[in-house]
Amino acid sequence: MTTHSNHRSWLASANDHPDFPLQNLPLGIFSSTNKSPRGGVAIGEMILDLQAALDAGLFHGAAVAAAETASRSQLNDFFALGAAARRALRGALLELLDERSKQREAMQALGETLLVPMHACQLHLPARIGDYTDFYVGIHHANNVGKLFRPDNPLLPNYKHVPIGYHGRASTICVSDTPVRRPNGQTLPPGQDTPSFGPSKRLDYELELGIWIGQGNEMGEPIAIGQASEHVAGFCLLNDWSARDVQAWEYQPLGPFLSKNFASSVSPWVITAEALEPFRKTQPARPEGDPQPLPYLLDEADQATGAIDIELEVLLLTAAMREQGLPPQRLARSNTLNMYWTVAQMVAHHSVGGCKLQPGDLFGSGTLSGPQSEAFGSLLESTVGGKQPLSLPSGEQRTFLADGDEVIMRARCHREGYPSIGFGECRGTLLPAL
Ligand code: MN
Repeated sequence: MTTHSNHRSWLASANDHPDFPLQNLPLGIFSSTNKSPRGGVAIGEMILDLQAALDAGLFHGAAVAAAETASRSQLNDFFALGAAARRALRGALLELLDERSKQREAMQALGETLLVPMHACQLHLPARIGDYTDFYVGIHHANNVGKLFRPDNPLLPNYKHVPIGYHGRASTICVSDTPVRRPNGQTLPPGQDTPSFGPSKRLDYELELGIWIGQGNEMGEPIAIGQASEHVAGFCLLNDWSARDVQAWEYQPLGPFLSKNFASSVSPWVITAEALEPFRKTQPARPEGDPQPLPYLLDEADQATGAIDIELEVLLLTAAMREQGLPPQRLARSNTLNMYWTVAQMVAHHSVGGCKLQPGDLFGSGTLSGPQSEAFGSLLESTVGGKQPLSLPSGEQRTFLADGDEVIMRARCHREGYPSIGFGECRGTLLPAL
């Protein structure tokens, strides 16, 4: 497929934009003055209003129905249309916004009716999330966390056979910039044998890739691994906020519960598979001695191109740093190549027993840490379970998050000869417990 890698836009702010050049074109839901939430496309510093573009007659052919569906207040119906509609819309937008576009003057004449400055807009959750599942495919995270509990045997015996996951909570998933309140809960304080109730003292973030499900499947009809990528509508950043002290007390035998269900933050833009195409990679070879995936999880094409090279970072801005005018401090830089299982393997596994996936369902990858401490995607790992505090430029230290801390996640794709694209940010500031 053509990547339009050398094309430029007549919209100046799109060219060399670190996140949203012409080659990205992510979809999201936005609102601006006096208008209700509606579908738009991020381009440079602006958002293209799909309804305004339809009103101006800018779309033709298959792109009309795709744009109409994507212009609604949630992207579920658009996700349900599948890859062909998404590609039709992308193709039309690539032409419209190209510097050689025949519609350039007509579009410029529409001014801010068509292209709304992003800073003047509010961004919303892109879709109504029916179900949310969090996986555990970041093998270095699984190793690091496992080591804290079982130094000699960090990975449980199922890890290299099953893409481990659990069913999470969809109702408290919030869009970037939504404040997050520190939860109260039950914990077992060190040295005690009865639990206490109160604000979590070990509040953490988890750096994850979010996966938006597109076309679903019927109950009882699994999605085959070879078709699985066609069922993915796009990607985002996900912060799976975690109350570690609550988690440690509650998680056995059924897994995380209240430690994870108070909030999960997502970045607002849906980055499409088409935009990520140039950044596809071969799934890294499994270490010598690891088992081959079972046949229902093994597909040659998926192994050849199923990994994605996305650089991830997490930064912290404390209240004191904000007051002192200090910039956010990067805590870690990692990459989605640290996934032991591909996205297609996650989709195939999730549905293999007959589970119904629906448009707008969300998957989390699990924390994507790298092997080195500079790439650890949670404080649990980078402070070795709270034992080694991190030092900040303000003179403060952190083992876990303090009230007023803002966690900022970013993701970018780079490749020689291609414009870089980014995900935008996933931010959240911690409010004190009630
Ligand atoms: Mn998680």
